[in-house]
Amino acid sequence: MELRELGLTGLRISAVGFGASPLGHVFGDVPRDTARAAVRRALDLGINFFDTSPYYGGTVSESVLGDCLRHAAVPRDRIVVATKCGRYKEGFDFSAKCVTRSVDESLARLGLDYVDILHCHDIEFTNLDQIVNETIPALQKIKESGKARFIGITGLPLNIYTYVLDRVPPGSIDVILSYCHFGINDTSLVDLLPYLKSKGIGVISASPLAMGLLTDNGPPEWHPAPEELKLACRAAADHCRKKGKSITKLAMQYSLMNNGISTVLVGMNSAEQVEENVAAATELSASGIDEELLHEVEAILAPVKNLTWLSGIQQA
Ligand code: NAD
Repeated sequence: MELRELGLTGLRISAVGFGASPLGHVFGDVPRDTARAAVRRALDLGINFFDTSPYYGGTVSESVLGDCLRHAAVPRDRIVVATKCGRYKEGFDFSAKCVTRSVDESLARLGLDYVDILHCHDIEFTNLDQIVNETIPALQKIKESGKARFIGITGLPLNIYTYVLDRVPPGSIDVILSYCHFGINDTSLVDLLPYLKSKGIGVISASPLAMGLLTDNGPPEWHPAPEELKLACRAAADHCRKKGKSITKLAMQYSLMNNGISTVLVGMNSAEQVEENVAAATELSASGIDEELLHEVEAILAPVKNLTWLSGIQQA
């Protein structure tokens, strides 16, 4: 598995990252043995980056990931674990008091003494000035305490990143996690990469399968995409299937092709999915992407290119 530098953190993380939201049963039930096998297989195949949040499955993802990592008995310094704060099943709270308590609760569920990355989760749901003036300073203190090595921010709209990064002291945010903005149907993250690089910010791109849109099974009920986008993605998946090919493999490979992105975080709930996604990466390194299929799928998705959905509160 290819390892890539994550901004200026000094961390080298696997190009394919393990998104643990499915372990919180977000995309359907996952038996514990299946979850443990998925994490074990990921480690065996060279995945060293794991991402979770107290929000996923109302803390279940963190507890299950912690159990799976303990069960795998992997040395702590061989893995990079990220979790988040500020977004919970009960709602949003980015106050200093909440995030300071939240990290302790996350560490207890994960069974860890520290996380490598602590993100503010989906910051577009609060006034961004709170993130700048209250949350990031609180996370700095957490970093100084040793409970988190690096600090990140996540969310859907891309303008949140420039707003916050232009206003915090240099070095106080190490990474961003963007989702659903670098895949075959949406490449809008690309325009932000030079800015992020100039600031020394590591880039994590999540949801290469557009949260299930680019899979044969299709998206879960709760998927927020407009119907037009869902239909186009289904047509693209059908096209690949008719040709005996996999939309998922193509989508994974496409997202992995941009080296300005340190890791492609894909949600996985079984050893089989881990194997398929790692095989997609290996095959990409060996023989490149299927250009013909890519052009056909891009043509199907052209009418919905960069079509997204609203997320968060209206910012002044
Ligand atoms: P994704 O695009 O990675 O899609 C996940 C879905 O695809 C799941 O249903 C999974 O079971 C399925 N899948 C994975 N590999 C497959 C394969 N080979 N064949 C068929 N189906 C396959 O979406 P995601 O899980 O939402 O995103 C990845 C991770 O990124 C999350 O688990 C989470 O850790 C992180 N994330 C963070 C944020 C945020 O911070 N706001 C938002 C989205 C995602």
